[in-house]
Amino acid sequence: MRLGFDIDDTLINLREHAFHIYNKKLGKEIGLEVFNALKKVEIHESFGMTAEEGSQMWKNSLEEVYYTDCPAFPGAVELLQELNRQGHEIFYITARNKEHGERTKKWLLEHGFPVHDERFYWGMKDHEKVNIIKQLHLDFYFDDKPEILKTLSEEPVKVYLKDQSYNREVNLPRIVNWPAYQAFIKELEK
Ligand SMILES: [Mg+2]
Repeated sequence: MRLGFDIDDTLINLREHAFHIYNKKLGKEIGLEVFNALKKVEIHESFGMTAEEGSQMWKNSLEEVYYTDCPAFPGAVELLQELNRQGHEIFYITARNKEHGERTKKWLLEHGFPVHDERFYWGMKDHEKVNIIKQLHLDFYFDDKPEILKTLSEEPVKVYLKDQSYNREVNLPRIVNWPAYQAFIKELEK
């Protein structure tokens, strides 16, 4: 099978990682219950920031957010390793900016994700992911953003949402926790 994965907030818990970094940088202790109730992807409002301040904070924190110890979601690394061992083709499709491609690939490898150079795509806008996903003839694609999956509704690829507080109202097949290999294959065969 050919399986495509978004990275941030699909395979790794990036926003929560950023939330902790914001607390630390700003000397605040905003609780995770605030994070878990967010109905949008952006986290800055929890810290009383305007959109502009939030955007600046994100840019200033990006190095730390991307390249420190952001945890993978439980089971994600193990599942992708097993998929890889079983001969399935794993593609990463991330909208991280051009300049972050090589370092992100290296970070993934260092954190145990199986990465093949020719199956790693980055630097596109969210709405451009659809073009790559079409060209790759993926069987399955996983992402946390419903807007991206909706651009694929006319395509043969089967899509899944990674469950997040901001996508709960969307009615699409959903991965709440990354299951073990056998359970995952069973889910895909449904
Ligand atoms: Mg994402």
